[in-house]
Amino acid sequence: MKRVCPLCNGLYEIEISCPNCGRDMSDNGPVVNYLDNYSPYLLDDISHTEDGAAEDECTHLFCCPSCGKDKRVGIGRVEI
Ligand SMILES: [Zn+2]
Ligand SMILES: [Zn+2]
Repeated sequence: MKRVCPLCNGLYEIEISCPNCGRDMSDNGPVVNYLDNYSPYLLDDISHTEDGAAEDECTHLFCCPSCGKDKRVGIGRVEI
């Protein structure tokens, strides 16, 4: 049994509505891929992971193609 992020593994996609304009936001991938641009955020995530607090979540960055708003969403891992 292995716990994986369903979005990273292409199991399914989720739809997130933009809090600004209500358009569907697009998944820009897990936040860990944005180390260079988002290091202040990532430091947070790393400390959570080391605590085990966010172990069951993969944080994805969603971006609104319409207004440019971005939002981090914790995706629960599933067992496969
Ligand atoms: Zn993921
Ligand atoms: Zn928007």
